[in-house]
Amino acid sequence: MNRRSVLAQMVASGVSVTAFGPTAFAGHAKAFTGPTAQTVLGPVEVSRLGFTLPHEHIADGPSFLGKWPKAWGGTAGFTKRAVEKLNLVRASGINTIVDLTTYDVGRDIRFLKEVSQQSGLNMIASTGQRFFPPQYPNVSMPARTIAGLAEFFIREIEAGVDDTGIKAGVIKIGIVGKKPSALEEIGLRAGIRASKATGVPLRIHTHAIDRAAENQTPILADEGMDPARVSFDHSDDSGEMDYFLPLVERGYFVGMDHVHRGLTPDAMPSFERRIKCIKMIIDAGFADKIFLSQDLEFGGSLLPEAVQDFRSKLDPPDGMLFTTRTLIPGLMEIGVSARDIHLMTVENPRSFFGMADQPQ
Ligand SMILES: [Zn+2]
Repeated sequence: MNRRSVLAQMVASGVSVTAFGPTAFAGHAKAFTGPTAQTVLGPVEVSRLGFTLPHEHIADGPSFLGKWPKAWGGTAGFTKRAVEKLNLVRASGINTIVDLTTYDVGRDIRFLKEVSQQSGLNMIASTGQRFFPPQYPNVSMPARTIAGLAEFFIREIEAGVDDTGIKAGVIKIGIVGKKPSALEEIGLRAGIRASKATGVPLRIHTHAIDRAAENQTPILADEGMDPARVSFDHSDDSGEMDYFLPLVERGYFVGMDHVHRGLTPDAMPSFERRIKCIKMIIDAGFADKIFLSQDLEFGGSLLPEAVQDFRSKLDPPDGMLFTTRTLIPGLMEIGVSARDIHLMTVENPRSFFGMADQPQ
């Protein structure tokens, strides 16, 4: 057995990811000697983030509880089930989960903090806007101006979310279609300004199949945004190298977090095409511009299969472990090195989520 297949086996068994990076743990360090990322438990040195999933959804878990209260026997039962699952995630070698659930899609910040504390996983919460205007019931739009919305995002980063003092450490902006609507453009510009004001990075939900990032880069450039602080998420929904390469060449990140969707019969692009594109971007010299994740709706994944809805069925069959169990072994099988896996899963998050201005 050669070195690669040994590593692949170790990854598949969930053992080796800890060997890829430092052992990280959640907690509020007292003195910082390096850059920090803002987690729901306070700032953590980026050297302690370890293996990081940069685009997931944990914080809307209680909204699934609200829809299916009998499935778990109430909040305590739901939290217990969530922590049991997250303990398995942590045991597999994953250290940090970035939660991109914004206020308008049911973010419950207290739940996120609770499961972070109980599981020992670092969690980074997001501010920002998924839908514009919000489509979630009982939520009103905080502002319709760039300045007003930026102020709201900055408050969630600097003062905290929902009067809890729990601070967001990333900004997520949703651009639903090929081109941003007028309101989505306001959201994007507000996200950029909040990022520049706070040092917190920006992740954008993009409709990559329509090459949506190409309609967003002019706005980012107009606002003077540093491409190294931006990730275009769901990028693997495009299978076109002439879409990816100009983005990474300019310094933007591409989030490859829908790879599991390629496993669905007749999916375009297929799983094979998606991992081949990742390999080709790496071979072009841009492993330092790729993120791997799985955009999992965690609460939905806890539901009994009989009541799972469309969105839950889109999620990977091995849930939070898809990246370590299926995606990484798949990439190594086609020749991606352990070195590049480490870069994409440990080093890129370490540089991206470190805040430009250090909170003390
Ligand atoms: Zn998402």
